[in-house]
Amino acid sequence: MSEVKLAVLGSEGAGKSALTVRFLTRRFIGEYASNSECIYTKHLCLDGRQTHLEIYDPCSQPRKGKLSLTNELHWADGFVIVYDISDRTSFAFAKALLYRIRESPVGAFKKVVESPVFLVGNKQDLCHMREVGWNEGQKLAMENKCQFCELSAAEHYQEVTTMFTKALRNITTNFKVKEKRRLSGSKSMAKLINSMFGKRRKSV
Ligand code: GDP
Ligand code: MG
Repeated sequence: MSEVKLAVLGSEGAGKSALTVRFLTRRFIGEYASNSECIYTKHLCLDGRQTHLEIYDPCSQPRKGKLSLTNELHWADGFVIVYDISDRTSFAFAKALLYRIRESPVGAFKKVVESPVFLVGNKQDLCHMREVGWNEGQKLAMENKCQFCELSAAEHYQEVTTMFTKALRNITTNFKVKEKRRLSGSKSMAKLINSMFGKRRKSV
């Protein structure tokens, strides 16, 4: 069984809880407690493999001071970053989050493979009040090697499920790449040690 930890981040009111609850329960309930942070768990079958999923939905108290994501960066295997297409401030916040993830020392340490990020423009049903263009979201995602989509937690259940499934698949693929590199890394280390000891033995 594989374990996947996903953090859903974004500014207050962007729709983090709405998206998470929609994915987990199929429901859109309209109002969500904003003063509690939750880790939801779910068992699902992803590409024939049993997967234990944990989704972190932080509480939406505006963060004071510097954007600190240290705990989230250590905890999560991947991120969904949400903004509201009818709110430009939320897009600016999403951008700041993305830069923070891509520039983090944790990211640099893990450099081998970057954390999978899915950028989501939510509330597409409010496109008559749109403040952020589809192209802007797409461009930001491309520049930062993320996947991107626009959807509506309120109206598009299928799109929400597809987005989460792609995000999870991306994370599990990332695990495989990391594992492959780790194995080939340890193989070449073994070769190196072998050749060193081999040489030494000859010279004794
Ligand atoms: P969070 O602070 O990021 O967790 O945001 P919430 O999930 O609590 O959503 C904030 C508000 O936006 C709530 O009133 C939701 O009903 C509303 N909302 C969330 N998603 C959508 C959507 O796709 N369309 C519309 N019209 N409203 C939404
Ligand atoms: Mg919330």
